[in-house]
Amino acid sequence: MEQTFIMIKPDGVQRGLVGDLISRFEKRGFFLKGLKLITVERSFAEKHYEDLSAKPFFAGLVEYIISGPVVAMVWEGKNIVATGRKMIGATNPSNAEPGTIRADFAIEVGRNVIHGSDAVESARKEIALWFPEGLS
Ligand code: ATP
Ligand code: MG
Repeated sequence: MEQTFIMIKPDGVQRGLVGDLISRFEKRGFFLKGLKLITVERSFAEKHYEDLSAKPFFAGLVEYIISGPVVAMVWEGKNIVATGRKMIGATNPSNAEPGTIRADFAIEVGRNVIHGSDAVESARKEIALWFPEGLS
C-alpha cells in the first residue's frame, strides 16, 4: 500500500495544531504507520530539503525547521501521496484553496505548518531518512 511522509513543522506543533492535523488524515481514512516528536539538527534539515539548497530561502527554511520539535509521521492508504498534497494545499497559503490545511491554518509561506512528500519516490527517500529504525 502507498505510503507518504508527513511532518508537522515547528509552528504547527507550537500552535497546538497536532491533534487537528492528525484528525484530518484519520477521518479521511488513512492509516498512521509511524509517529515521533523530534527536534532535528541543522545537517539533518539540510538533508531533508537538499533539493532546495540553491534557493534564496534555503537558509531561512533550515532555521525554521530546526527552531523546535516537529512531528514526523508516515501515513498509508490509497493514493496517499497525491491526496495528502491536496489536503495540505498550495505551498504559499495565500494561494491555497479553502478547506486545505495551509488555507485553514496559515498565512505565511515561511510558516506553512506542514510538509508532505511530493512523489512516491521522494516519500520512499524521506521515510528512510526520518525512520531509519523502520516502522512497527
Ligand atoms: P514542503 O516540501 O514543505 O511540503 P512544498 O512541497 O509545498 O513544501 P517546496 O517547494 O518543497 O514546497 O518548499 C519547501 C518549503 O520551503 C515550503 O513548504 C516553505 O516552507 C518553504 N518555501 C518555499 N518557497 C518559499 C519562499 N518563496 N519563501 C520562503 N519559504 C519558502
Ligand atoms: Mg516540497
